[in-house]
Amino acid sequence: MAEFDVDLFVIGGGSGGVRAARIAAGHGARVMIAEEYRMGGTCVIRGCVPKKLFVIGSHFRQDLEDAAGFGWTVPPASFDWPTLIANKDKEIARLEAAYTTNVEKSGAQIVKSRAVIEDEHTVRLLENDRKITAKYILIATGGAPNHGAAIPGIEHVISSNEAFHLKELPKRIVIQGGGYIALEFAGIFAGFGSDVTVIYRGDNILRGFDEDVRTHVRAEMEKQGITILTGCTVTKVDRHGESFTTHLSNGSSIGSDQVMFAIGRHPNVANLGLEKAGVAINPNNGGIAVDHFSRSSVDSIYAIGDVTHRFNLTPVAIREGHAFADTVFGKREVRVDHANIPTAVFSQPEVGTVGLTETEARAQFNHVDIYKTTFRPIKATMSGRDTRVLMKLVVDGATDRVLGCHIVGDAAAEITQAVAIAVKMKATKADFDATIALHPTAAEELVTMRTPTARHVRQAAE
Ligand code: FAD
Ligand code: NDP
Repeated sequence: MAEFDVDLFVIGGGSGGVRAARIAAGHGARVMIAEEYRMGGTCVIRGCVPKKLFVIGSHFRQDLEDAAGFGWTVPPASFDWPTLIANKDKEIARLEAAYTTNVEKSGAQIVKSRAVIEDEHTVRLLENDRKITAKYILIATGGAPNHGAAIPGIEHVISSNEAFHLKELPKRIVIQGGGYIALEFAGIFAGFGSDVTVIYRGDNILRGFDEDVRTHVRAEMEKQGITILTGCTVTKVDRHGESFTTHLSNGSSIGSDQVMFAIGRHPNVANLGLEKAGVAINPNNGGIAVDHFSRSSVDSIYAIGDVTHRFNLTPVAIREGHAFADTVFGKREVRVDHANIPTAVFSQPEVGTVGLTETEARAQFNHVDIYKTTFRPIKATMSGRDTRVLMKLVVDGATDRVLGCHIVGDAAAEITQAVAIAVKMKATKADFDATIALHPTAAEELVTMRTPTARHVRQAAE
């Protein structure tokens, strides 16, 4: 009789947990995976996928407007929110089923239950109070939206979770936050026709991104009619029937039909039984503390994805889950390399970025060359839209290596995925220059910028 009920118990059927379960089962492990809500996790059910569908849907407003400059007479278009929600729900249900089937096909067993840790080798299923012993436990419980301070009226505030299921499109919405989710939903709601106000506590949105990107995106969003108020926070929300008044720290107030907060996410570590098994939390970020192989402070317990609060992105959770399964069950030690992870903000316009910002590069390197251009995209010349694209390369002047690439504009995410290969391969600016342009594209600017727009050389004494 086997010493444990299973070789691996995975808690959480999201991006990371599913990948780890499937790969471990493929390596011959007996795997059980528990999911308390819906298979697929945040990305599939209420994150990347429905968000991208909303972004695509909301962008048609601009497309329809732009068509006129190319000779199209577009009949007055109308938009139906319930149709969007129903079609999105259908697609998400299809993906959820596909996730379930793929896990089952791999040989792993799914249990629909919340699971908590009892000790270093035991998990308890809350659905039926059953205890399962496992040689290894993988925690892949993801994260959840932060609610922020307990201000008066906080109960009226929605998060991205609810934004995917609103009964109707709000005519006016106030969104607090200046990061990924706030800006993506600002673009979504504005595209569908809502009047959008973004409230951000700092001096400019997208803290941590390249300064030129921050300035450019903000200006472009404002051109589209999105109001961005900086240097203030929401202090109180009053409800009047179906509408709200949001009070701000600067003394002003705004009326709206919805108030949404997108002020970061926290790792799902509460009430998980971590203390029973002695699993340590990383004091710096509140996630589960792990080493380079995603092993926690307890030898038999690993953690991957958002619950470790390292880089909260789907491909990272997937890569960590795969590496865990290969390392523990595949007889092949795999360390995830977290350097140069490309990322996109699906705001409108979109941001694509990989590698170092100008500020980061200047802090780390003595000689940094900047190649930057802004230009009117070809489509805008005929549509008449007032918009510009930003492209920027950050280069180490000493070695000629391209340290970072930052793009704002249509297809920025798609372009960045391809450029990320070059950056990961340590391509030099000379490699970019040696690449013949593909014309006519926006991306050709990346291989045709010849002269640095700025050169930062640190003197020896600095
Ligand atoms: P999750 O996908 O969150 O999965 C965790 C699962 O564990 C959940 O299904 C949860 O129900 C389950 N669970 C939790 N506790 C228990 C328990 N005790 N027992 C059983 N089950 C449990 N990333 C990108 O790369 N690109 C994007 O465009 C993007 N867009 C996003 C948009 C939004 C609105 C949000 C919120 C996130 C977005 N992300 C995006 C981030 C991405 O969704 C996450 O990084 C990714 O889902 C993390 O995967 P995970 O496996 O760590 O956790
Ligand atoms: P972000 O960390 O991106 O942004 C949070 C924003 O809220 C920041 O502007 C932050 O300000 C602000 N904030 C934080 N705390 C408070 C507070 N108490 N009061 C007021 N403002 C506050 O988080 P999101 O919620 O937008 O998204 C969570 C994560 O999900 C992202 O970081 C990303 O990892 C992932 N994600 C990825 C996407 C993608 O890949 N396209 C899309 C959506 C989410 P400040 O900057 O000053 O700290």
